[in-house]
Amino acid sequence: MKTSNKKTIFSGIQPSGNLHLGNYLGAIKQWVEMQNDYQCIFCVVDYHAITVPQDPKILQEKIIEVAKIYLASGIDPKKSIIFQQSDIKEHTELAWILNCTSARMSDLGNMTQYKDKAAKQENPGVGLFDYPVLMAADILLYDTDLVPIGEDQIQHVELTRDLAKRFNNAYGETFKIPEYKVRREGARIMGLDDPTKKMSKSASSENNYIALTDDPDKAAKKIMRAATDSGSEIKLDWENKPGISNLLTIYSLLTDRKISEIEAEFANKGYGEFKGKLAEIVKNFLLNFQKKYYNIDNKKVCKILEKGAGKLQKIALNKIESVRKKIGVL
Ligand code: ATP
Ligand code: MG
Repeated sequence: MKTSNKKTIFSGIQPSGNLHLGNYLGAIKQWVEMQNDYQCIFCVVDYHAITVPQDPKILQEKIIEVAKIYLASGIDPKKSIIFQQSDIKEHTELAWILNCTSARMSDLGNMTQYKDKAAKQENPGVGLFDYPVLMAADILLYDTDLVPIGEDQIQHVELTRDLAKRFNNAYGETFKIPEYKVRREGARIMGLDDPTKKMSKSASSENNYIALTDDPDKAAKKIMRAATDSGSEIKLDWENKPGISNLLTIYSLLTDRKISEIEAEFANKGYGEFKGKLAEIVKNFLLNFQKKYYNIDNKKVCKILEKGAGKLQKIALNKIESVRKKIGVL
């Protein structure tokens, strides 16, 4: 997208459940930091959310909720574009074209997220299988330079790059090949109930995650109840101490302090004391976040989304027209 000389960033979150600390620390926090240096596009990816069953009324509310979380976290609509995926029809059109021209069954069958999510359903929908192609379309439509992501999305952006290259090889230079950026710490915040699996909004138990809209006292209790490991030392050791390592990572990211410093502070202290301090930190973070969140008017959010789509529509149309021309359907 060339409204300035800045490089373009595209990223999004599904309105598929309660946004959690993993989404914030692994994604949104770095988006906020990138706003001044890049032309950022942040999407509420509603067509991704329907790859698993959704209640229509709740989905409608969640779309606004995700946009509101972007705003309360510090995404500034004067600097960045925020929009709803389904408002720009070219996303699904490009996904279909990429399905036919570039994506192969074997690519999609290899995606670990598909395997994980499909295992939870008896007869998963085709959309769940095809989801990475829609994600590729989201990214390629706007000539994205860089996609900031958590570790769970690396495979999908690699596929995006492959699809773009295949299309360019077959039809001539059309898509920019995007790079991705994974935040080193916080790339993978793990579930509080099971620190060997990632924190996820589609987790079956709400004890898996701290939602950004959780009651702060309830969230503090979730930290106190979080699964820990045997032993008593507060030390980063993902292999033997995944529970404590996860809590240390959350502690470090929320306070902007080094893990080694926190380890030193809690040397010779027990899990109870460490968790108590983290519970307080999480509670204060949520109180502060929610003060902003609950002050944002829903109508204002709808306007911001509309305006965002308005800014992008022409770019999406230009790109899809060039693609249609190349494949012979314009
Ligand atoms: P779902 O279970 O519906 O897939 P999710 O929690 O995985 O939800 P997404 O909307 O798929 O959330 O992902 C949004 C962004 O949050 C992505 O950039 C993803 O990498 C990041 N993210 C998701 N979960 C985590 C996590 N546990 N740790 C760090 N980053 C995460
Ligand atoms: Mg996900």
